[in-house]
Amino acid sequence: MTIDGAEVAERSLTEDVTTAATIGAAPNGGLARFAWTPELAEVTEWVAQELERLGLDTEIDAAGNLLGRWPAPQGKAVMAASHLDTVPSGGPLDGALGVLGAVEAVRILRREGFEPARPIWIGAFMDEEGARFGTALFGSRAFVGEDLTEALEVRDRQGVSVREAMIAQGHDPERLGEAAQVDALSAYLELHIEQGPVLHTKQLRLGIVTSITGILGYRVTLGGEANHAGTTPIDLRRDALVGAARVIVALREEARTDPQLRATVGDIRVVPGATNVIPGRCEFVVDLRPAVADTFERAPGWLEATIERIAAEEGLEATIRRDYAAPPVPMDPHVTDQIRAAAREEQVDALELFSGAGHDAMLVARQVPSGMIFVPSRGGISHSPEEWTDPADCELGARVLAGALRRLAS
Ligand SMILES: [Zn+2]
Repeated sequence: MTIDGAEVAERSLTEDVTTAATIGAAPNGGLARFAWTPELAEVTEWVAQELERLGLDTEIDAAGNLLGRWPAPQGKAVMAASHLDTVPSGGPLDGALGVLGAVEAVRILRREGFEPARPIWIGAFMDEEGARFGTALFGSRAFVGEDLTEALEVRDRQGVSVREAMIAQGHDPERLGEAAQVDALSAYLELHIEQGPVLHTKQLRLGIVTSITGILGYRVTLGGEANHAGTTPIDLRRDALVGAARVIVALREEARTDPQLRATVGDIRVVPGATNVIPGRCEFVVDLRPAVADTFERAPGWLEATIERIAAEEGLEATIRRDYAAPPVPMDPHVTDQIRAAAREEQVDALELFSGAGHDAMLVARQVPSGMIFVPSRGGISHSPEEWTDPADCELGARVLAGALRRLAS
């Protein structure tokens, strides 16, 4: 078929994934495309060219987000987006699949001769991962209208600020507010690899996300008494690490009884930290991921009561500080229905699951009805060059995305 006389070449999603993975390829085999770098600009420009070839109007907005607009006579737009930046030694699909899959969806709809009744926007958000500055979700935060003035002053390891990096890439940090365009949307869709093992383990090819998990972060200190490891009888000790160990096991048991909760202690410090001294103090970080509102509301009370009970039993003093709390974000039932219907058209069994990882969708979903489509990650691996999804499953994800776009933009 033709758009304004130009052929829609039969370039495939698989080819696009392969080509994108050559841009920003690092010597260790992974990808390195970070915020405000030439590598990220190059891949973004390459995607923009394809969107233009498909007849979309493209813009790199004030926050560095790529937006491709398929115009329609009226109405608010339906957007499909994800991100093109990576973690250090990143894989070829985390983020890129959502953008390239959206491009593929446009090719599918163009081939069908689809005429949208409302605009379709394709997007790639700047700096989802936050690998360079720790400014994760920068582009989607700007898109939903968050004030990023403070983020502009954050510096990378070389001492370069976000502000300086933006200017070096030809962007004007003072115009950041212009990137707030979420009000133009009626619905948002994001295709992403699962980044976990659930679909792969169940040998299913498609996931429909019901919610994106919340996060609760706590810094816990247990204070006991440092003493001689040889002379202090076991029952006379106030061992802070024993208390921490009991808390960690209790967290695992709680997460086993509530499938909507994941709990991790990934960072722990023992003071004084000597082989022959009973730990006098133990500091650790608790990361709780409640997938639903009920669990999000219940988990803090449970955690505090559990730590206090164990501390009392072990003769320890407990200090619990909450560092952050982000509630789970439910996906929209109507948008999710359209994804389900699109999956049925593809005659594929889809699993409904929550996302344990954060995505640009969790910001957009607070303001616009949103849905997410997952395809399996082999072995549940992501944030690694080993990240892999069967190309047939990637293509399936793009077809379901196209189906959902068609329904929402009709
Ligand atoms: Zn991602």
